[in-house]
Amino acid sequence: MAQHNDTFRDFGLDIRLIRALDHQGLEHPTDIQQEAMPVVMAGFDLLASSKTGSGKTLAYLLPALQRLMKSRALSKRDPRALILAPTRELARQVYVQLRSLCGSHFNIALLLGGENFNDQLKALRRQPDVIVATPGRLANHLNARSLMLNGLELLILDEADRMLDLGFAPELERIHQAADHRRRQTLMFSATLDHAETNAMAAKLLNAPKRVAIGEAHAEHKDIEQRFMLGDHLDHKQALLDHLLANETYQQAIIFTATRADTERLAERLQQQELATAALHGDMSQAERNRIMDAFAKGQYKLLITTDVASRGLDLLQVSLVINFDMPKQPEEYVHRIGRTGRAGASGVAISLVGPRDWDAFKRVEAFLQRNISFSYIEGLQGKFKGLRPVRKAQSKPGNKTPAPYKGKKGKGPAKPATPKRPAGFIGGEGLGSADGTAPLKRKKAKPEQE
Ligand code: AMP
Repeated sequence: MAQHNDTFRDFGLDIRLIRALDHQGLEHPTDIQQEAMPVVMAGFDLLASSKTGSGKTLAYLLPALQRLMKSRALSKRDPRALILAPTRELARQVYVQLRSLCGSHFNIALLLGGENFNDQLKALRRQPDVIVATPGRLANHLNARSLMLNGLELLILDEADRMLDLGFAPELERIHQAADHRRRQTLMFSATLDHAETNAMAAKLLNAPKRVAIGEAHAEHKDIEQRFMLGDHLDHKQALLDHLLANETYQQAIIFTATRADTERLAERLQQQELATAALHGDMSQAERNRIMDAFAKGQYKLLITTDVASRGLDLLQVSLVINFDMPKQPEEYVHRIGRTGRAGASGVAISLVGPRDWDAFKRVEAFLQRNISFSYIEGLQGKFKGLRPVRKAQSKPGNKTPAPYKGKKGKGPAKPATPKRPAGFIGGEGLGSADGTAPLKRKKAKPEQE
């Protein structure tokens, strides 16, 4: 990019935007803002990747608001800009940033799934200039004909890859169809541009887009120290967690679990230890989720136990520790989870506990980050599990899908062979009972978290 703007003033932004940025102490654009803003301001469609916490929200909000301030509306009745985000938390975060930039200059509506439809109808009757929404609810409003998108000037998809992962492709197409005209400018943000579905959707929605790739998601996040620890089973992971919470230095921490049931169970356990802990998951009402998020943001809780529902859109500067009690299924999700710490240049620590059930997910993260990950240990809490070796096709017997045990590399400490009674491939094993043969730990089978 030939142009280099040192400060936000150099972009020729409207003075009201500059004042709002000054007020927030923001002066110098981040890389993604530097690259994306001129492209958007020149009127191009944009497909951009940027790592979490890079300032991507302002990278689209500023040029979008500039366009709305400088041009006349195509339609008096229809919204001029629509911003879609995968989760309610992220949408809310975008809405807050938008408000802080334009005050009452524009009429803005926030339309989230799980909230009162009639209240939203009332908000739509006031003919908002800008709508921030989750895709499902926006599509519901289109179906109910409570809004039209013929006059839409800007369609912005934040974390498009995640929306597609959550199965929102039909809603995105529906929204695109409702606003399909030549004067629409479309911006699509994704954690990574190597996401086949994102590229396919981009081909449908974007018109000759410019591509901007800043710090693709697998790039090292220099402000976050990442550590990995092996865990044998649920009890062992809990012992590791207790130790970490007692010994790490942090103001607030977020702990991610695989299922809603685990979130509740772990939160209860930590509450019993008199740690100020809240659980947050998608089974809760939106009002309850908002209450917990506000209380956590105000520091009323030290620990937040949650599923992936909270991995995006939380902008909590006091969070300096993230623990993956379970590894996320998708490596992109790992990047988003750890991105809850190390925000805006602050430093953070992300610790992942890797048990037999996490092994495949762990290997995907390792491949995604493009580096060999080594494990750290806590004195006195070393477990037996040393990893799993991939199954070679020729060796695998029908019906035996479990990978063979990894015996450990030379010089990496003792690695015990699998106990003969246990299924091949497992050393330890959550939910199967602890390695010493004590009673199985009951773990409710639960749906993975989804919006
Ligand atoms: P985002 O990637 O949009 O989630 O932004 C992450 C954080 O960076 C937010 O707390 C923003 O307020 C902050 N931020 C965004 N742009 C800048 C900037 N140019 N300078 C300093 N902080 C910023």
